[in-house]
Amino acid sequence: MRIMAFGAHPDDIDFCCAGTLAKAKKEGHEVAIAISTSGNIGSAEMTMEETARVRHQEALNSAAIIGAELFWLGYDDEFLFNSREVRLKYIDVIRQFRPDIIITHDKDKDYHPDHTTTGQILWDIHVMSTIPNIKTETPPCEKLPELYYMDTTMGVDFAPEFYVDISETFETKAKMLACHKSQDGWMDYMYGVSNAEFARTLARFRGFQGGCTYAECFRKAHFFPGSAHKTVDVFC
Ligand SMILES: [Zn+2]
Repeated sequence: MRIMAFGAHPDDIDFCCAGTLAKAKKEGHEVAIAISTSGNIGSAEMTMEETARVRHQEALNSAAIIGAELFWLGYDDEFLFNSREVRLKYIDVIRQFRPDIIITHDKDKDYHPDHTTTGQILWDIHVMSTIPNIKTETPPCEKLPELYYMDTTMGVDFAPEFYVDISETFETKAKMLACHKSQDGWMDYMYGVSNAEFARTLARFRGFQGGCTYAECFRKAHFFPGSAHKTVDVFC
């Protein structure tokens, strides 16, 4: 199976589904990470250009830990819009990797406009990735990818449909998150908490709910015609 996770910012995947990706990779599935924006406002000290460059390298380092292919879309942080040009870019990125499953932000529940816009774009275009008359550089996908939403930041307003036990891959997730060194200072500056504490608390909380030590949780994006035929055990 081919699994592609789309995050709005360079560390979103690490927070919300890296344990699941690490588990899937370990079990022989192919995994890719796509990132909408360069995260270029995420520093109080560096310029936007320098922040983007540093965060791109951090994302590459993180993806390399599990051998995931990285797709860097590079849009400006805080200014992602669901335009024709942006949609075509996402369609082409999907066509390049040709996933069976896409994981992204919940378009209805997440808190950040780049998150909801990323989720909305994926909702809007994943069917288009299969349509021949929508032309991009890469030929259309033969198969319609299924779409899943990952947890929101600190689980706010997210009603999980199922949990993935990541107890055995949590430390890999923590290592991936630790690659985003520039953001430890930023999270502390913004919210007074470290990335590591933030991620461990959420994974433990979801673990309690899911009946294991650490977990990540998901919801299926229900739509016609792709909604009816899968529920759980989809990622691993
Ligand atoms: Zn984010």
